[in-house]
Amino acid sequence: MSYASSILGLLPGGRRAPGIAQLIAKIEGYLPPDQVERVREAFDYAELAHKGQKRQSGEAYITHPVAVAGILADLHLDGPTLTAAILHDVVEDTPSSMAEVEQKFGREVAEIVDGVTKLDQVQFKSRKEAQAESFRKMILAMVRDIRVIMVKLADRTHNMRTLSAMPPEKRRSVARETLDIYAPIANRLGIHSVKLELEELGFHTLYPQRYRVIERELKRARGNQKEFLPKIVKALRQALANAGVKGTVEAREKHLYSVYMKMRRKHLPLAQVVDVFGVRIVVGTVDECYRTLGLVHGLYRPTPGRFKDYIAIPRVNGYQSLHTTLFGPNGIPLEVQIRTEDMHRMAESGIAAHWQYKTGEEEGSAQQLRAREWLKGVMDLHEGSAEELVESVKVDLFPDKVYVFTPKGDIMRLPRGATCVDFAYAVHTGVGQRCVAAKVDRRLVPLRTVLRNGQTVEIVTARGAQPNPAWASFVATAKARSAIRQYLRNLKRGEAAELGGRMLNQALEEFDLSLRKLPDGRLDEVARTLQLKDGAELLEKIGLGERLARLIARRLLPADDDRPEASAQQPLAIAGTEGLVVSYARCCFPIPYDAVVAYLSSGRGIVIHRESCSNVAAFGKQPDKWIPAVWQKDQQRLFTAGLAVEVTNRMGILAQVATQIAAEQSNISHVNVDTSQGDQSTILFEVQVRDRAHLARLIRAIRGMKDVLKVERSLA
Ligand code: MN
Repeated sequence: MSYASSILGLLPGGRRAPGIAQLIAKIEGYLPPDQVERVREAFDYAELAHKGQKRQSGEAYITHPVAVAGILADLHLDGPTLTAAILHDVVEDTPSSMAEVEQKFGREVAEIVDGVTKLDQVQFKSRKEAQAESFRKMILAMVRDIRVIMVKLADRTHNMRTLSAMPPEKRRSVARETLDIYAPIANRLGIHSVKLELEELGFHTLYPQRYRVIERELKRARGNQKEFLPKIVKALRQALANAGVKGTVEAREKHLYSVYMKMRRKHLPLAQVVDVFGVRIVVGTVDECYRTLGLVHGLYRPTPGRFKDYIAIPRVNGYQSLHTTLFGPNGIPLEVQIRTEDMHRMAESGIAAHWQYKTGEEEGSAQQLRAREWLKGVMDLHEGSAEELVESVKVDLFPDKVYVFTPKGDIMRLPRGATCVDFAYAVHTGVGQRCVAAKVDRRLVPLRTVLRNGQTVEIVTARGAQPNPAWASFVATAKARSAIRQYLRNLKRGEAAELGGRMLNQALEEFDLSLRKLPDGRLDEVARTLQLKDGAELLEKIGLGERLARLIARRLLPADDDRPEASAQQPLAIAGTEGLVVSYARCCFPIPYDAVVAYLSSGRGIVIHRESCSNVAAFGKQPDKWIPAVWQKDQQRLFTAGLAVEVTNRMGILAQVATQIAAEQSNISHVNVDTSQGDQSTILFEVQVRDRAHLARLIRAIRGMKDVLKVERSLA
């Protein structure tokens, strides 16, 4: 019976899923009694929880988790893995809670169950190649403990074995997902037996016709080989014995899916793939591997170019062996694999070896060490060369990426810590620039929300929306950060040029001139004498406070114009809408209709101070940097003002003052309470007001309150 047909023999109608008695018998063979007992307790608990539930096949539901545990027991996995396998569906499908599982079976088991439950919630939605690869990585990234993957793989294996109970449509999609996602994961982790079974079952379901053709061909080929294969095996054994090398020689079974894939990959006709002898030789040491290779090459002539040394350079999943192809009897190719016992064990169970239950102190630690070395070796060897693998093995050890879905089901890979805004920019810069809201798993969330693996993210955009400068403080991707900075730079430059134009016009008024009245090209001409590109750049520099409007205005006059400078400078009119190039000093909090002056802060633009501010006096030494300023009428925005409120200490006084401020249509942006004066306190507020009249109303209202001793506008 072929390997594949022995698997198919387990389909319903064949053998029944093994019961708990068989499972217990199996694990008693390698687990200590206390761990066996835990598995039995998990069974009692799960059986009760799943009571009354049936599988599609009509069997009691509990047969499924028991079968899943059985698959893992065949791999000799440890007690917590088996306990979790028995419990893997209780949280999702029964009233049991994760808290209860943790309380009864401990944190380790609960975390594995939790991981499997979470994996069940992400859905593979697209069949694209790259998508499948991303999905595999996402699955690996989602689990902290690789045992979660092993339970999931065993779960999938049993579901595949019992797939015939499902409707045809469902059968095909599960089989497709198995071939695209789960078999490659098993392969990547080196869990050979699981990989093979998933492939054969998936192939049989998805392509029953091709499966049958290949099966028939294989049977025919085996018939042909009957005559020669035993002779070849015997000759090889003899050669080893003569050279004093201890080892086993076995004929290798061909697997249907790998035959199929080889045909497709190498564009070979079926017969050419099938008509090959396959032999595996397992020896004691690496040395003996190479000696055996020599012996084999002495026996049959090797095919040039077909020798592969996977011992020196292991495959990406850590697989090690020597591969060679020889000209066998009658010219039929003979493929030989040579490896050590250790390599053979790793080739069979891969990463699973790390969590196999260790019998006996010595052997256990040696095996664990091997598994660890294997992992480390995989990581070291493929650094750079097979980036892909390093990344996907790394992803489960040091997850530094998150994988999320677009609403269409495409997968986006982002660095850990990425937010909705990063996602928006990753989709498209235009989406980032116009995003106004985000939905994660269909719920509205703040844009700064950090994304987690497996979430579906939808960005809401609005025409005319603009990036918010605050985003720069939380985005995690370079793409988002540089796009936001670029936008702000452009915005600031545009605003600076506009303000610069206004300032220059005011300065020109002193000479009865304006930018419009200047001869064409005059501004550009002057700009170039100042080593600037053009007039626009000059205006920008004025707006940013790097050039003085009055001096530029003078330069713009015709050469023969020797009018004396007007004694009083025209004040700059503050509209409040200049944006980033005009700011309001936090030392004195100017608000509309305060007497103010403007300070040209080179590169930053203009900072407005109140005339009474102590900093104005301090900067008096640089008269060129100060220009008079006035407020335009009809200010549209709110400004920050400082208030110092002295109160008697009493419960709830702060809340009452705050309520009063709100009642006067003002917001509080900051509060600080100074209680160092015994039974009195000073509360410092920063409030948002429209202008002096608004602030005056607010002060009056607070002053009228009980327990308020004094209110005044604070000056730094
Ligand atoms: Mn399950």
